[in-house]
Amino acid sequence: MNFNIGVIRGDGIGPEIVTEAIKVLDGVGAKFGHTFNYTEILMGGCSIDACGEPLTEEAIQAALASDAVLMGSIGGNTSTSPWYKLPADKRPEAGLLKLRKSLNLFANLRPAYLYEELKEACPLRDDIIGDGFDMMIMRELTGGLYFGTRSTVEEDGQLVARDSLTYSESEIRRIAKRGFDIALKRRKKVTSVDKANVLDSSRLWRKIVEEVAKDYPEVEYEHMLVDNCAMQLVKDPRQFDVILTENMFGDILSDEASMVTGSIGMLSSASLNDTKFGLYEPSGGSAPDIAGKGIANPIATILSAAMMLRYSFDLDAEADAIENAVKKVLKDGYRTIDIMPRDGSSVKQVGTSEMGDLIVERL
Ligand code: NAD
Repeated sequence: MNFNIGVIRGDGIGPEIVTEAIKVLDGVGAKFGHTFNYTEILMGGCSIDACGEPLTEEAIQAALASDAVLMGSIGGNTSTSPWYKLPADKRPEAGLLKLRKSLNLFANLRPAYLYEELKEACPLRDDIIGDGFDMMIMRELTGGLYFGTRSTVEEDGQLVARDSLTYSESEIRRIAKRGFDIALKRRKKVTSVDKANVLDSSRLWRKIVEEVAKDYPEVEYEHMLVDNCAMQLVKDPRQFDVILTENMFGDILSDEASMVTGSIGMLSSASLNDTKFGLYEPSGGSAPDIAGKGIANPIATILSAAMMLRYSFDLDAEADAIENAVKKVLKDGYRTIDIMPRDGSSVKQVGTSEMGDLIVERL
């Protein structure tokens, strides 16, 4: 089959890690008989330098014309880069927010998976980790507290700040459906997280999730209060498969879940809309401190490409091949510098490009 992929290399380590993900995609294409066509799209600091703005209309159109977009990362050193002397709406990150909005990317997926070989990086005790955990945080990305009306006004001689948290039935329904669809591709369990003992928006969330769950009888589901979920993530992370939650709770819980896995260089993510389209990117940033040194870990971007195959193209076997190749490369003892164990004598340190090659060899 033929697929058109928009490619945003971005800034810092972005171009280096995307090159490796493309290498792996081409390897999968050769093995399974698919052709991936790539369209380069400028976004972030590099677009400011070339076009005077972080995301042009032309770039948005190119993204819209693609089947999916693979992204590295954008931005520079926020203290020293001239990009951060510009007004907020002209900075690199403004490009990403604009792209998410233009493409209506309302569902954010962040897997938190603990590799057997990287257990040392996990801050939890061995008896809690057991044989590892594998969960997916599904966060609503375009509603709730971060998009509600806000104000700071003086009342009775003091400043009063207000933020509003709004969710409509349709916003909840579309993310819930996505969550249950994703669960069908996994271990078929959804934990819907809310604060229904206090918030009206959470009570509506719970009601709609229950309605949606009726259409997925094969998926087991439960409700959990957000404060309990924050505790359970460190107490017993193995209980979770898909965690489905609203914007702010998801923001916090996804960082918590990813940190219990260890390295930022291993964490992929996807942002989806209500079509098959998605934007796939590593969870980390552009790491200006190591850019150009050839040492960045490309695995998060490579795993993001695997998510693209699974969720935008329905190529599950191909996605499995990439994920298994990553597991194999770790098992065979290869590490980039960020995932080197304290005692590195039993493993071999490799650079960005070599890690890409080693994964391709194991597809
Ligand atoms: P960062 O994630 O770029 O870096 C934090 C630390 O993690 C650094 O020490 C870095 O070297 C390391 N790191 C990150 N990715 C790595 C990888 N693949 N391999 C090895 N080490 C890796 O976060 P930051 O320093 O706070 O931000 C740098 C820039 O990235 C900023 O401009 C920020 O706005 C931007 N940013 C962009 C995105 C995005 O593109 N979606 C996300 C987060 C931050």
